[in-house]
Amino acid sequence: SKIILVTGASRGIGRAIAEELSKENIVIANYNKSEESAKNLQEQNENIDIFKADVSNRAEVKKMIDYIIEKYGKIDVLVNNAGIDQEKMFQDITDEDWDNIIKVNLYSVFCTTQETLKYMLEKKNGCIINISSIYGINGGSCATAYSATKAGIDGITKSLAKELGYNGINVNAISPGLINTDMNAHLSKQDISDIIDMTPSSRIGNPSDIAKAAIWLASDDASYINGQVISINGGFII
Ligand code: NAP
Repeated sequence: SKIILVTGASRGIGRAIAEELSKENIVIANYNKSEESAKNLQEQNENIDIFKADVSNRAEVKKMIDYIIEKYGKIDVLVNNAGIDQEKMFQDITDEDWDNIIKVNLYSVFCTTQETLKYMLEKKNGCIINISSIYGINGGSCATAYSATKAGIDGITKSLAKELGYNGINVNAISPGLINTDMNAHLSKQDISDIIDMTPSSRIGNPSDIAKAAIWLASDDASYINGQVISINGGFII
């Protein structure tokens, strides 16, 4: 079985990815604030280990990677999923807002990937899956900073795939549309109904829709998939 790190796995999409991948692998589920939820995930899955780390902090990320290498000896798959939302008119975004979302959504991918890569490069084998967003492709009104982080993740994905492919390491991104998680708890029934009306598949997504794609990308069957941003959005953007 593979050793897999999923960041931001206490809730939502990351949790679903951790649950699915743990069926045939060992998963280290990273969390930051939702300790109770992470403990509950661990209790329900014997193949899931949990580790608290703020992925926007290199020292904490380093501690987490050291723990995994010491305990399991390797990391085969890294899923960079942790992220936060930010809904603000562009003119209202403060420097603090900007710095915070860049750190949590984008720097975290840079830093966690760098710390993990040391070990993947030694083995000349690995798989990195970044969770992006359709906002990175299409942009979103009142979501400029968030969209910038997700477009940045798509850039990292494509550039790293070019740089690392020759070392046996694949890098891809999954770019979800609207998925039913806490991140969208602020949306009204009408907002969701309007989005469903604009979605050819006539529904919003579930975390399991993303988890199933992650399973495939993490499998040996996907070894020829590299540098791709795969959007899973029910046809909302085509
Ligand atoms: P969510 O339900 O709000 O969960 C976010 C997860 O990220 C939580 O497990 C949270 O952990 C973790 N996290 C946040 N900041 C962290 C930090 N500094 N260090 C470590 N973990 C941190 O969100 P979600 O909808 O599952 O989103 C997951 C990813 O999918 C995000 O990157 C998001 O941008 C992307 N996405 C979501 C949607 C959507 O419609 N839901 C669409 C496109 C893309 P704690 O609670 O433990 O702090």
